[in-house]
Parts: sequence; C-alpha cells; structure tokens
Amino acid sequence: MDNACAAGIPEADEQVTAEYSFRLSPYLRGLLRDRPADDPLSRQFIPDRRELEAGLHESPDPIGDESFSPVRGIVHRYPDRVLLKVTHLCPVYCRFCFRRDMVGSNGMALHPEEIDAMLDYVARQPQIWEAILTGGDPLSLSGRRLGEILRRLSSIEHLEILRIHSRVPIVDPAAVNESRLAALRQDKPLYFVVHVNHADELTEPVVGALRAIAETGAVMLSQTVLLKGVNDDVAVLERLLRRLVRLKVRPYYLHHPDLARGTAHFRVPIEVGQELVRSLRGKVSGLCQPTYVLDIPGGHGKVPVGPAYIGDRTDGGLREVADHRGHWHCYPE
Ligand SMILES: *Cc1c(COP(=O)(O)O)cnc(C)c1O
Ligand code: SF4
Repeated sequence: MDNACAAGIPEADEQVTAEYSFRLSPYLRGLLRDRPADDPLSRQFIPDRRELEAGLHESPDPIGDESFSPVRGIVHRYPDRVLLKVTHLCPVYCRFCFRRDMVGSNGMALHPEEIDAMLDYVARQPQIWEAILTGGDPLSLSGRRLGEILRRLSSIEHLEILRIHSRVPIVDPAAVNESRLAALRQDKPLYFVVHVNHADELTEPVVGALRAIAETGAVMLSQTVLLKGVNDDVAVLERLLRRLVRLKVRPYYLHHPDLARGTAHFRVPIEVGQELVRSLRGKVSGLCQPTYVLDIPGGHGKVPVGPAYIGDRTDGGLREVADHRGHWHCYPE
C-alpha cells in the first residue's frame, strides 16, 4: 500500500486504511498536493474518519451482485449483457466506491483458469450480446492481458458489443500507453465508459488520454456518481457535462450513490438529485444530459430516478405533463 505522507497530503488515517484500501497514483498525488481536505478532488480520494461509521442499511454488497454470480467474477443480471470483473485492483481507491468491500486488499485475485471459466460462460450463453469489463479497473491489467481477454471475447460469434468501465484515464493517465491502446483496437464495437465526477479531473494529461482512447475507434461515454461536497451543485455538473461533450464524450449515467459501507457522508437525498437533473434539463443541451439512475439494493437492477414529468390522467381524459420548471401542462391523449 502506498504511503500518503508526501508533501502537502495529510497522513491517511490508519484505522480507515486498515478497513478499506488506500492508494494514490503519482499523478494524482501531484494533482492533490496542497488542495484542502474539503476540495472536491481530495474528498474523493483521501481517507476520512467518517468511513468508519457504518450506516443501518449499508452493505458490503450494496447492489446484490452476489446473488447473480453464476461463475466467480461474473455478474449476470440482465439476459443480454454480463459484467466481467476481470480484476479486483484499481490504481487509486475512490472513498465512495460501491464495491469497496470487494476491491483492493478486500478483494481476491482471479487465477487465469477463472478468467477461462468466465470466458467459457459467455461463449456458452447465446443470449449474451454484450460483455462489460469492470472490476476493480480493467485498465489496471497489462495491455497484453487486457488485449487477450478482449480478443477472446471478440471471437465469440454471438457476442456483438464490448464495453469497458474505467477510471484509469482520469486517475492515472500515463497508464493509457501504447500497449493498452493496442488492446482496445478490436473489430467489434467497443464502448469506453469513463468514470469522472468533476471538471477539475479533466486536466491536460487526462484530455490527452481520452483523445488517444477515442482514436482507437472506441465510442466514448461517461458515468458520474452524484456526491455530496463534490458535484451536488448545478453549476459544477454543468461545467463537467459541457467539458465532456466538448471532448466528444457523451454523458451516459449519473449514479445515485449506492449504500456501500461508510459512505453516508457522500450521499444526498434523491430529491436533491432530481432537482439538479430538472434544472439541467432546462439549461443545458440534450447532448449533455445523463440519465439519473439508482441501482436497487438486492440485485433488482438500475432504474431511472429523475423527476417524474408525467402526472395523472385528468377527468377530461387529459394527461398532465411537467416542464423543467415543475409547471404542469395538459397533453390530450
Ligand atoms: C450496471 C449493470 C449493467 C449495465 O447496465 P446498463 O444499463 O446496460 O449500462 C449490466 N449488468 C449489471 C449486473 C449491472 O450492475
Ligand atoms: S475506480 Fe471504480 S472500482 Fe475502483 S475504487 Fe473507484 S469506484 Fe471503485
């Protein structure tokens, strides 16, 4: 485990780091240097004593992955797509991570035979249309191993779409090297979903890494976790979403935070998220609008939880529809 005693970065709390992995890439260490503890970037990566407070409904498996895991490393919740947790490692551990009890030192390494078993599972299930590499962070694998997994998936005839969810371009842009880029060049369509939460994460090296990934031919999408004190503000979200679209990254999901252990200090009420989404709808291009989703505990999957725009049917057979200001109008159905 890395040591956080570098100049300008507060010493990590040992009790917290005994419970949850802590790590900073050299790049992130530089970026966080001299930022205050309540800065939107510091909050995401520097351990906090509040992580030791386990809330009533919090869980080591907040979205119920376990009950949908037919083979170790696979989560198969929806018929047409599977998650492949190809590694339990990340270059940096986000303090709000929904898999914090399964990643880093809390996770277990997969043996090569277990990767084989995961790929066999995909090959044997003809209804699987899409494979989603996740983890941990798939880009913490070497380019050679990542390339081998993607090639083997590509060769499965019924599998048509490859998807990768990663935070590496944001937290360790130097790791987006030629060998990993080569791994991403596949014949089948590859969607690259980058996890990014604040415009300050989009520094020059990060922009370079995102461009390089786009140049492999990957379709670029983003996912953002709504986090108290980080991005629970309409101006902050607007700046992030506009930057992303300018970088040719299409915002995909805005996640309501999951009930991971020791993350209550990051959560806002759903009403706050809905109001943010409603104001974005009125202010910002449709290209910049992510879908606000919640993953229902127990493995029931993700659903949109944005504000309801459709109301009841009136006596006269009209339907009530709300605009982005929350004003109601009639739609004759
Ligand atoms: C989030 C998730 C997916 C991907 O869902 P999309 O809505 O297609 O982005 C797939 N499988 C599992 C188990 C998931 O949790
Ligand atoms: S990069 Fe993703 S998996 Fe890794 S610690 Fe952050 S949120 Fe968790």
